[in-house]
Amino acid sequence: MKTIRDFDGRLAGKKVLMRVDFNVPLDKETGAITNDLRIRMALPTIRYALERGARVILMSHLGRPKGQVKPEFSLKPVARRLGELLGADVKFAPDCVGPEARSAADALGDGEVLMLENTRFHAGEEENDPEMSRQLAALGDFYVNDAFGTAHRAHASTAGVAEHLPSAAGFLIEKEVDYLSRATTDPDHPYVAVMGGAKVSDKIQVLRNLLGKVDAMLVGGAMAYTFLKQQGVEVGDSLVEEDSLEVAGELLEQGGEKIVLPVDHVCARQIEADAEARSFDDEVPAGWIGLDVGPRTVELFKQKIEGAALVVWNGPLGYFEIEQFAAGTEAIARALADSGATTIVGGGETAEAVEELGLQDRISHVSTGGGASLEFLGGEVLPGIAALE
Ligand code: ADP
Ligand code: MG
Repeated sequence: MKTIRDFDGRLAGKKVLMRVDFNVPLDKETGAITNDLRIRMALPTIRYALERGARVILMSHLGRPKGQVKPEFSLKPVARRLGELLGADVKFAPDCVGPEARSAADALGDGEVLMLENTRFHAGEEENDPEMSRQLAALGDFYVNDAFGTAHRAHASTAGVAEHLPSAAGFLIEKEVDYLSRATTDPDHPYVAVMGGAKVSDKIQVLRNLLGKVDAMLVGGAMAYTFLKQQGVEVGDSLVEEDSLEVAGELLEQGGEKIVLPVDHVCARQIEADAEARSFDDEVPAGWIGLDVGPRTVELFKQKIEGAALVVWNGPLGYFEIEQFAAGTEAIARALADSGATTIVGGGETAEAVEELGLQDRISHVSTGGGASLEFLGGEVLPGIAALE
């Protein structure tokens, strides 16, 4: 995969069309940006191009306008916030293609930035329409993709456009691919995967792919109960996906001794903050819901993690949004932070849990792409990455 570094020496005076992920959370009532992390994360790649005298043209989607112009999803406030962060004027084009985008791109000077309006205001974006790709490509001399979170989608701004221009990854995609490929290609051993979260069905492909590579797969969260039930263990009222029992059986067969399931459970009768919580060994009694791994399981999992050279973690080990069911997730986050292994964390809620604990700087890599990281870990080729190869 090429990176923006491969364009070094060729960027001065050139228009760099850059796909970023500025899909920031907005306040439902005021429309204000509630968290600008995604904008700040894009700064290194943007600055790299600007410092080399490029003219940077940014494109992104925001929200789900579904091919229609919806003012509440305008990127204008994002362009303003980017200007504050860069300490520079950021120009704005009210459309991402068409005459206004063209003339704004042509008017850019060296070291200047233009933000285009939401790519998803056109249906052609998500349809990967060749004409839309061609029009976007006409705005730039080079294409740089730094939006990992949409790299699993073949859209005009993530895949189509790359067919027309010399294309490369920005630093965010470079780091994602660097770390996530350590988990999928020629991984270090002992290699331990920790899997949790809500559903087996969301993660079958990841479970299957990683089972072929890891030395141990530690399974917690709600998904553990589908596996336990398949093994004939009493799981009470825990979340079980009946439709996934068969696949759980196949995975148990494929994984054999590698798969480590919880040996005790923190349970309650209702999923409520003030519900009475109790630990049970081995099984979840009738009338109770398994909501976190118990202390014996935590010890078991910690021992496996301590000896590992590489740990990949996806999915909280319990209903961590409620404090009394957060201990398992917290203990595993700390075990990763304290380990000398290369540690890779993926998944929206898992990353959130790590950040809430302030441990993100002690993890080798916290992936920002929810669906994209899962597809990568599942061994799939992401169209937005393939387009840069
Ligand atoms: P990620 O976004 O990290 O991939 P998922 O979306 O798969 O994770 O799952 C996260 C959700 O799983 C959390 O909201 C958490 O409350 C829930 N969860 C974890 N363990 C349990 C459990 N035992 N019972 C019910 N829900 C659980
Ligand atoms: Mg999730």
